[in-house]
Order: sequence, then C-alpha cells, then structure tokens
Amino acid sequence: MSTIVLKFGGTSVATTELIESAANIVKSEYDKGNNIVVVVSAMSGATNQLIEHVDKINYNDDSEYDVVVSSGEQVTAGLMSLALKKIGLPSRSWLGWQVPIITRGSHRNSFIDKVIPDKIINDFENKKIAVVAGFQGISNEGRITTIGRGGSDNTAVFIASAIKAERCDIYTDVDGVYTSDPRMTENVRRLDKISYEEMIEMASQGAKVLQTASVESAMSNDVDVYVRSTFSPSDKGTLISNDVNHENDRAVTGVAYSKDEAKITLIDVEDKPGVAAEIFNKLAENSVNVDMIVQNNFIERKMTNLTFTIPMIDLDKALKILENLGKKLKISKVLNEKNLSKVSIIGSGMRNQPGIAAKMFECLSKNKINIEVISTSEIKISVLIDKDKTEEAVNALHTVFQLDQI
Ligand code: ADP
Ligand code: ASP
Ligand code: MG
Repeated sequence: MSTIVLKFGGTSVATTELIESAANIVKSEYDKGNNIVVVVSAMSGATNQLIEHVDKINYNDDSEYDVVVSSGEQVTAGLMSLALKKIGLPSRSWLGWQVPIITRGSHRNSFIDKVIPDKIINDFENKKIAVVAGFQGISNEGRITTIGRGGSDNTAVFIASAIKAERCDIYTDVDGVYTSDPRMTENVRRLDKISYEEMIEMASQGAKVLQTASVESAMSNDVDVYVRSTFSPSDKGTLISNDVNHENDRAVTGVAYSKDEAKITLIDVEDKPGVAAEIFNKLAENSVNVDMIVQNNFIERKMTNLTFTIPMIDLDKALKILENLGKKLKISKVLNEKNLSKVSIIGSGMRNQPGIAAKMFECLSKNKINIEVISTSEIKISVLIDKDKTEEAVNALHTVFQLDQI
C-alpha cells in the first residue's frame, strides 16, 4: 500500500464527462489499496473568466480577488467527489481553509506556509479519498488566499510532502515533460526523467507544464513528481526528482520559450551608486519581477541607458511607477517594447561543455534572428528576440542541439 497524490489540471477536468473519466483513474489507484488525495484545478478557462469579472468591477482589492478567483476549484472539488461517490468510492471534498492549507505573503501570490494533514490522514483511516481544491489557502488573518497562476501543482506537492506520499502524480494533457513544448516544436522527445534543477529552469523560462514554485517545493521537500497524461494514463510519464539525468553527457536538455515579455529602456540614467538600487527596489516593492538586465555606460557623460525585461502583465504598473520615479531621478525617456519573446536553452551538461552560447548565437544568426538581450545562469542561456520569430528559433535550436535524436 502506498500513499499518493493525484493532481488533475484544468484540461483534465474541463467537463463533467472528463471529471468522470479522471475519477476512473483515481479508482484504478484506489483499487490497488493506496491511500489517495486528489487535488483539482478549476475547469480550463474558468479562472480566466473569474479574473475577467473582477477586472470589470475595476476596484483594486486583492483579498476579494482571491475570494472570487479561488471559486473555480471549489466547483471541481465538489464535482470530483460526486463522480467518485457515483462509482462507489468513499470520498469528501476539502477547501483550502478546511484542510487547512495556511499561507503567508500578499494576496494573489501567497506562499504555502504549511499544510496541517491530520484531517486528510483521518480520511485514510476511514478508507476515504480526500479531494482537495487546488490553488487556495487561508491566511493567518483568516482570509481566503490564492497562490499564483498554475498553483494547483504546488498544492499537490505540499500535500504530498505533508502526508509523506510516495509520489505526486500531475495528470495533464501531455504524457510527460518533453524536450520542448509539443504544441510549438517538431520532433520533440519525451524525457523519462529530469532533475529538479533543470525542471525549475525549464518551468521558469516558460515550459508551463509545471508551475515553477511547485518544482522548487518538490526539490526542497524531496517529493518525487511524475507528469502523466489523463488521456493515456497507462503511459509512464516523466519523473522529476533528484536522480541524475541519464542524458547528462548532453549539454542541452530542453528548449523553452515565453511570449509574455516586455522590455523597458530608461534613457540617460545618472551613473552613480544607488540609482539602480532605487529603481529596482521600487519595482520589487510593487511585486514587479525583473528578469534580464543590461546597462550601457557612457563614461564621458556619466550617464547610462538601462534596459530590462518584465512580464507583459506588469507593464502598465511598471510604466506608472517609472513615470513618477523618472521625474525624481531626471531620467530623460522611458521606452517600452511589447512584441518580444524569450527563448532559452537549458541543461546541466552545459556546466562542463564550453562553446554552447556560441553555438546558440550562430544558429540564430544563420536563421537571421536578431538577439536583443542575453542572460545566462550556470545551466541556462536566454535570448530576447522578435515575437514573430519564436517558433523558428525554438525549432532551429531544438535541431541544432540534436534534441530530436536519442
Ligand atoms: P494543466 O491545465 O494540466 O495544468 P498546463 O496547460 O498548465 O496543464 O500545462 C500543460 C501544457 O504545457 C501542455 O499542453 C504543453 O503545451 C505545455 N508545455 C510547455 N512546454 C512543455 C514541455 N517541455 N513539455 C511538455 N509540455 C509542455
Ligand atoms: N486554476 C488556477 C489557474 O488557472 C490554478 C491552476 O490551474 O493550477 O491558474
Ligand atoms: Mg498547469
């Protein structure tokens, strides 16, 4: 007997028919004698629709945003429990506050602090399946919170850690983690396994098959995560764990992209200590996540131009902040650009193979793709390019690093 968490994403619970077929996957695990927690997302599209309702009222209060936006998961938790009962499985639904899943930090993007698992464990003793609404929790002030888009993955991982589950299965619309997004890239290959650190980079660079925070939680709590397909549940999927990647002799494991990038350039920023700190502190205080940063100094004029990227969704907020700050810091112009995307190659094998950046840039140049900004980490190289060239760049890099070949 094992204890396992099964998480079903939005496309897996998009209709009541799909919820009933997901319930059959749960049944096959329950019938093996396992203790089971099911975590559900909202029906695909439901969260976006709820956000649209909030946007229409157009009044800024993140605590009420969380009350509205968390409700999609309440619906699917109830429906999943009904579907399980219908096929003879004892179950009950749990909302975040009932478990409880306690969170900290600001509304909309709270962090899970802890999961108190006693009631779920009590369900196991009664052979009951606990169906938990993903994405939501309760703050120390007793308010409903949400934990960031795609957060049900993180709910599942935290619960798996709290109940010491053998594994956490993330059921979605693809049968594993691929060398690149199967919707965008030709000849992708499914990876049997991938390390936490590579998966964190893949996810944070745009491979939305797993939420980045959930992989970070899995790594810190040593939870084995499998990505598997709801539509072909017998496929073995991809294991994300500490296990060393079999393909470690490869420099590059995957290619990711993000089309949600905006670039801001500040023209003529005074070149003296403290200015960059003031700009980036102000953005951070307002929860604007800055990604790539480039600074060009004009030594003779004691001025610099500062370029950086932020998520598209934060552009209006950032421009407002910079407009005010720009006056105070006497910045002569704030420019912005929207039609950009970030393409990244990721691989822990990059650590011990020189020339990977050169090969990447050469490949892009052969395809006449201009690089606007570059950023690197130990196991990742990212470039900012014209959005229209995303597909071409991703496919060319996938081929040049031979990711289509075993
Ligand atoms: P869910 O609704 O189940 O949470 P998501 O839409 O969040 O599912 O994530 C699944 C999607 O992630 C897939 O449909 C796929 O297009 C996308 N994806 C992006 N990069 C990858 C990758 N490297 N491997 C697998 N899927 C990927
Ligand atoms: N429903 C939430 C979202 O769409 C959380 C999730 O699906 O994981 O972001
Ligand atoms: Mg998801």
